[in-house]
Amino acid sequence: MTDRYGHFIDGSWRDPAGGAYFESINPATLEVLYEAARGDAADVELAVAAARRAFEAPSWSGLTATQRGKLLRRLGDLVAENADELARLESLDNGKLLREMRGQLASLPEYLYYYGGLADKIQGSQIPTSNLQILNYTQHEPLGVVGAITPWNSPLTLTTSKLAPALAAGNTAVIKPSEYTSRTVLRFAQLASEAGFPDGVVNVVTGYGAEAGAALVENPTIAKISFTGSTRTGSAIAASAAARFIGCTLELGGKSPNIVFGDANIENAAMGVIAGIYAAAGQTCIAGSRVFAHRSVYDELLERVSTRAKSIVIGDPLDDATELGPLAFGDQLDKVRSYVGIGVDEGATLYAGGGRPNVALPGYYFEPTVLTDVTNSMRVVREEIFGPVAAIMPFDTEDEVVGLANDTEFGLAAGVWTQNLARAHRMSRRLEAGTIWVNTYRAMSPMSPRQGFKSSGVGIEHGIESMHEYTRLKSVWINT
Ligand code: NAD
Repeated sequence: MTDRYGHFIDGSWRDPAGGAYFESINPATLEVLYEAARGDAADVELAVAAARRAFEAPSWSGLTATQRGKLLRRLGDLVAENADELARLESLDNGKLLREMRGQLASLPEYLYYYGGLADKIQGSQIPTSNLQILNYTQHEPLGVVGAITPWNSPLTLTTSKLAPALAAGNTAVIKPSEYTSRTVLRFAQLASEAGFPDGVVNVVTGYGAEAGAALVENPTIAKISFTGSTRTGSAIAASAAARFIGCTLELGGKSPNIVFGDANIENAAMGVIAGIYAAAGQTCIAGSRVFAHRSVYDELLERVSTRAKSIVIGDPLDDATELGPLAFGDQLDKVRSYVGIGVDEGATLYAGGGRPNVALPGYYFEPTVLTDVTNSMRVVREEIFGPVAAIMPFDTEDEVVGLANDTEFGLAAGVWTQNLARAHRMSRRLEAGTIWVNTYRAMSPMSPRQGFKSSGVGIEHGIESMHEYTRLKSVWINT
């Protein structure tokens, strides 16, 4: 019989109010993995009420910041102890390679340790105003109940990026994970309970975006929405939050440029381009999907990238020999396939890939693909495909490539490959993106802030800066 999961509310499992469940499918085998509760406004109401009670209860509000930090560190230990299980569950859910997930899960406790350590270092200040009679000081207060909505491509990491600073600051939370990846987030909430977080501090309501997700955004008790997902959903959430004057942190889509100059170490650059676009089958917000190669190295880079693309081992994500797994669900596959068709119709050349690879498993597989003869006006260059599709374009001058790279609605990340130090600094300054990588791609740490520019986001995740996304600042004046 298929496993069935309820919501995790107030420290225990709850059946959905409407009694409905939905299936989660393994994208490699197309087998049903489990059923999860199909949440609605009534479930959200229950979870938010539990989170609000927990926010006010002395068992949470009475803890010192150091005690909250200790709980986060204990949760970090539990995540480390259960990393293998979590990695496997996430790989089954979204088709990411098990060995890639093991790597991601090995670094996940760092997030909890880092914010656990920051919990008691968020200080207000005393302000030397001109009135000597009055003492003025500031303090950072938690907001209340934070609603966290996350996507399917890195559910645990992206949930932890929100939860760790929110809890460190003293908030409680209701999480709505993606309908494609409910299980690891539910398991994570269970681990939070085991770590000693009081009931109601971490709650999970599973279900669809238009139902449970929208209900969470619209719930009047929610003090803030922290969202990672598509720019389209982010825009709707921002509008709803603005109408009620609640804050939101939005980590959205991308169409990141990966720029290879003539003076780059071409071997490293080719590897960086491949990792930039084909990791997680291209389903990462930071995918380096627009590759710009200086004309002097264009042919060589194209050859290296397409030769490697054709030799990537595609197969079962649980097999350590596999280098590329399936796309996460059927609509994703249809979307990626249709974009390749749109590109070819617009005049692009299908240089490598573009179809279903020869894989024994029936899942949602798509070949690593290279498009050439593309221009900045084409949809395959302007829109986020979220699949293993690289568009490779030549350029002649630095000014030209800065113009091309910045000519996009997005501004999440950018890669630069050059051995010229002055150029590295210049490009870092001129590129309109929240994260710049020079001679590397995808480096990331909970300690380093990241922010999407333009349509890629609002607010900051990671780093000490992200703590302030989950607090409000009070100014106190005391007449002495
Ligand atoms: P999505 O916007 O479709 O869904 C994200 C989450 O929002 C899901 O939990 C979904 O159920 C929920 N949702 C959908 N409609 C909603 C609504 N009306 N109200 C409330 N919640 C709603 O995105 P996705 O397909 O799950 O994820 C892929 C996208 O996420 C890509 O665009 C990718 O670039 C982006 N992403 C961004 C980052 C980042 O850090 N910037 C990281 C990972 C993914």
